[in-house]
Amino acid sequence: MARRGNSIIKGLDINDIITRLNKAYADEWLAYYQYFIEAKVVKGIMKDAAIAELDQHAADELRHANLVSDRILQLGGTPLLNPKDWFTHTNCGYEEPKDFDVVSILEDSIKGEQCAISVYSDLADLTRDKDIVTYDIVSQILADEVEHEEDLQALHDDITEFITDIKKNIN
Ligand code: FE
Ligand code: FE
Ligand code: MG
Repeated sequence: MARRGNSIIKGLDINDIITRLNKAYADEWLAYYQYFIEAKVVKGIMKDAAIAELDQHAADELRHANLVSDRILQLGGTPLLNPKDWFTHTNCGYEEPKDFDVVSILEDSIKGEQCAISVYSDLADLTRDKDIVTYDIVSQILADEVEHEEDLQALHDDITEFITDIKKNIN
């Protein structure tokens, strides 16, 4: 644990920060796996573009899990040690892909990103001016999650527009 490093945290309960970071840590692993498996099972029109995006997001979520777990350790906490705990600690849950169609897969993922944005926005509000190091990490992650939502939404809109155009041309 970083003693001097933790002494600069002002007016916040460090155990509460650790608990919240562990919840975000559970979210990141579940998000990682969701993207990993979505990229494997996705079907349908323009699926190659979707696979590239889903794979990139999986890598980002794993990188987030790394950042969050390193910060938990610095604060003197222990990152969740058992994958079973991901389901009891998660904020955003896990959206099992039921319909493998690319549009459904993208919609499931957009929901997850919107939840992640709320989680990291709340963490940024909590730590701003109080725990600068955690604030910096959660702000970086928040920017990635905003980018993720935008990438998925843009792809979703392109695909649905393309489908609409095809239908128009058939009629
Ligand atoms: Fe993430
Ligand atoms: Fe994300
Ligand atoms: Mg992206």
